[in-house]
Amino acid sequence: MKITKIETIALTVPLLRPAVIASGSASTGFHVLIRIHTDAGLIGLGEASPIASTDADTPGSIVEVVNKRIAPRLAGCDPRRTQECLALIHTAIPGNQCAKAGVDIALHDLVGKALGVPVYQLLGGRCRDAINVIEADIWIDTPEAMATMAKEAAGRGVSAFEIKIGKDPAVDLQRVAAIRKAVGPGARLRIDCNEGYAAGTELRVLRAMEALDLVYIEQPVPRWDIDGMRRLADALDTPICADQGAYTPQDVMRLLSCGAADLICIKIPKSGLFHASTINAICETAGVRCTLGSMLPLGIGAAAIHHFAIAMRNVDVEMGGVYGSPLDYFVDDIVQASTVAADGAIRLSDAPGLGVSVDEEKIARYRRT
Ligand SMILES: [Mg+2]
Repeated sequence: MKITKIETIALTVPLLRPAVIASGSASTGFHVLIRIHTDAGLIGLGEASPIASTDADTPGSIVEVVNKRIAPRLAGCDPRRTQECLALIHTAIPGNQCAKAGVDIALHDLVGKALGVPVYQLLGGRCRDAINVIEADIWIDTPEAMATMAKEAAGRGVSAFEIKIGKDPAVDLQRVAAIRKAVGPGARLRIDCNEGYAAGTELRVLRAMEALDLVYIEQPVPRWDIDGMRRLADALDTPICADQGAYTPQDVMRLLSCGAADLICIKIPKSGLFHASTINAICETAGVRCTLGSMLPLGIGAAAIHHFAIAMRNVDVEMGGVYGSPLDYFVDDIVQASTVAADGAIRLSDAPGLGVSVDEEKIARYRRT
């Protein structure tokens, strides 16, 4: 079997409500659908889903990098020689993690289809039969609006909340306190500062937030500030989680070797399944658990996250939650049938590859020209 062509299609799908985090806000998702075609007629489906305020990749750069740098290298390669293909992807150009992750997802889908097994089987098989974590993202707003949002979600049975903060430390403390008051002492709260704080000046406010009983604190300081992460991890009792600082296995080696993170947030759209597996193995070896983040993908990227979550024992799906259906965030999705069941549970069938197919009519509708 040989790879004959790689196709890239830029898509825009509006979000149901704006997603506001410390580094920026978005009202629309920008994605790139990636299809790897073969001479056997099999097609691997992948998706790149960069977040404008946190990723160096853009939809335009992804299309350019995949078409001009990665596709020519993979042309004629047998996808079942997977490690060889992955090495060609990762040495095609430095950086460009989201572009590489999108092709990595398509390659895993293709190999699963070629071998007749689901992607979770390629990753080592199931360690869970189903995942049923109901959680809510609380985007940055006034303390009152955020508390109302959390209370409304709690009314629907949600007991775990990811609170986005990081823009204004004094108001952030009011935000987290208002949410704790609204949802009560039993709810699991974690905060994500998205690089908005400085280690030296915001230790005090993080200490005050610790008193509100947090599961963990995610990426408090900029990705480059490994020493700041280490100082906060030393000073606080609440675990410190690295997200934007942990794109590659090398990033994670550096963070763990100097005690700069107690947890690593793995995102398949920023690392791809191969490097995410390596990151998970590094963490498991070091006795560090992983959580899963999302970057708001559509149904193909979501399926890749779900296969990873079903397969990886060291990923703590209770503590970190798992991205559910894109329809919780977007007005529409591009897959025909989601990997999330109607009751919100992620179960996954034994269908080959990621087990999803695209709706061509929706591709045409959301295609960006
Ligand atoms: Mg994060």
